[in-house]
This record gives sequence, structure tokens and C-alpha cells, in this order.
Amino acid sequence: MPAVSHPNWLSLPRVPEPDTDAVERPVTTITTAPSLLEGAGFPVRRPFPSRDIGFRQSDPFLLLDHMGAVEYAPGEPKGAPWHPHRGFETVTYIIDGAMRHRDSQGGGGLISNGSTQWMTAGSGILHDELPPEELVKSGGLFHGFQLWVNLPSRLKWTPPRYQSLEASQVTLATSSNADTLLRVIAGDLGGIKGPGITWIPVTVVHASLEPGAQVRLPWPSQFNALAYVLSGSGTIGKDQVLIHEGQGAQLGSGTALSIGSSRHPMGPGERLEILLLGGEPIKEPIATYGPFVMNTHDEIVQAFEDYQAGRMGTIPAHTLEAQDE
Ligand code: MN
Repeated sequence: MPAVSHPNWLSLPRVPEPDTDAVERPVTTITTAPSLLEGAGFPVRRPFPSRDIGFRQSDPFLLLDHMGAVEYAPGEPKGAPWHPHRGFETVTYIIDGAMRHRDSQGGGGLISNGSTQWMTAGSGILHDELPPEELVKSGGLFHGFQLWVNLPSRLKWTPPRYQSLEASQVTLATSSNADTLLRVIAGDLGGIKGPGITWIPVTVVHASLEPGAQVRLPWPSQFNALAYVLSGSGTIGKDQVLIHEGQGAQLGSGTALSIGSSRHPMGPGERLEILLLGGEPIKEPIATYGPFVMNTHDEIVQAFEDYQAGRMGTIPAHTLEAQDE
């Protein structure tokens, strides 16, 4: 891990240091993500929504599930069988292993080894998210995350849309002194753009810091700032608050984001693997129940009715047969 890398970071484009008068964002909250079971019973760590970081703090993001890293035994991998979504986007990034998905519009594919699926559920879609047969049979390493990005009321009824962002498409960049690999999945980081097309301004970055690395990144003042440690340990924010695997951070206002990785890591050469998230808050009321995220309770009731009436689509018959085998 991680799957997408580069043999020579010195050759990559560099994200410029923020201006000298940039304001460092301070840490406002550190949370240790609680563990829970999702879908048919696969383990995740969920830094938000949580007691420490609620919808208001994570806006425009709704949820982050860190899946693994786990070494599955044969027969152990589980997924999230057919279920609907409406009113937001799901972003699935697989670092190690693979996830298979199928949907009510006949789409589907494999998300694996550094690729991302950006699904706009919009007005409504059914999908299933399962480990591929090979992984179930033989077991193996599985690691990734799923992020939920909210949509403003004017976009909740947008038609469903997929973007398959292959590992080879992820924009690779480095810090000013080339000790950090920056994978820009979507949005803009200091003028360097990722492949993901987003409905609202959002930046999603997976950064790998060499042991002892210190990086300062420009971060737009109108964006919120969240970070989550996938593995390793280090410091974050103006006051260099300690943070380690499984912890999330919410940062206050400013125009620069600072991260450091531990000099004496847990193992030889272990990097800090950290997810950086920023976006313009939507600032609308949120009504949510399970897989639906709307603005009002009435819209949630309507979502259930539409789902039950098949207006979000139906499970393709051939996939049911395949499941019975
Ligand atoms: Mn889902």
C-alpha cells in the first residue's frame, strides 16, 4: 500500500507553498473514529458524522467510512447488497483490493488498486457494492474509503451519473521539497487539478508523507478543511497537534494547511497516509434517513415512497439470478 505511486517524486509538478502572509489553519477538533459494521457486516471506522464532527462541521461532506485495512480470510469479505441512494454523491476509493458494483441502470464495474468511483445518486439509484468473487474465495488485503458529498437542494434531482476515475488518471504532484506525494483525485490543489468532476467546489487529496516530512499547502479560505489518517502518525495544523491512524481532524479558518509526519514511525520507512478534504459549505438544512439525504422530512417520506414504488429503479433480474448461484 498504497497502490498509486511514482518512482521519482522529484519529476512531478510541485504544489506551490502558500504565500508568506497565508494564515495557518488551527485544529478545532480531533476525533478518534469509532468502529462499526456497515452493509452486510464489513468493518469500517467512521470519523464523521460523529459526536465530535457533525454535519455542520463536515459540510459539504456528510460521511466518511474508512474500510480496513483488513486482511480477509477466505469467505470473510462482505459488501453492501442492493440499496438505494438519493440526494448526494458517493465517492469510493480503493487503495488495496477491489470492490465490485452494479446498479439499477445497468452500469457496473470494478473499483480496484487506486481507482475511484464517483457516483452522483442525485434523483435516485439502486446499487450493490460487493467484494469480487476472487476476493471472497481466497481472502486478501482490502483497504479504501467511501466519502459522501452532499448536493444543494437545486441539484438533488440531478440525473444519476458515474465517473470511473482509473488509478492511471489520478493527478500526481509533490510538495515544494518533494517529500510528499499528493494524489489529487478531484478539485484543485494550488492550481493542480484532479480528474474528478464535481457539482460543487470540492477538493479530495490522498497524501503520502515521507518520515519527517513537513508540508504546507494552500487551502482556499472559503473551503472547510478536514483530514483523516489512513495510516502512520504525525502532526497537523498551526499548533502541530498529534494525530495518528484512525483519527480525523477538523480545522478552523485560514488559507494554509500544514501537515508533518513522524520522524520515528511505527515501522521502518512508514509514511503518513492522510486524506485531505475541502469544500464550500452548502449551509442548507439536512434531513437524512439511512441512504437518503434531503432538506426536509417530507422529502425523506417521498424518497421512501418513490423507492418502494420502484421510481428509483429496480434490481436488474439477471443480477438476482447471479446472486442465487
Ligand atoms: Mn451505497
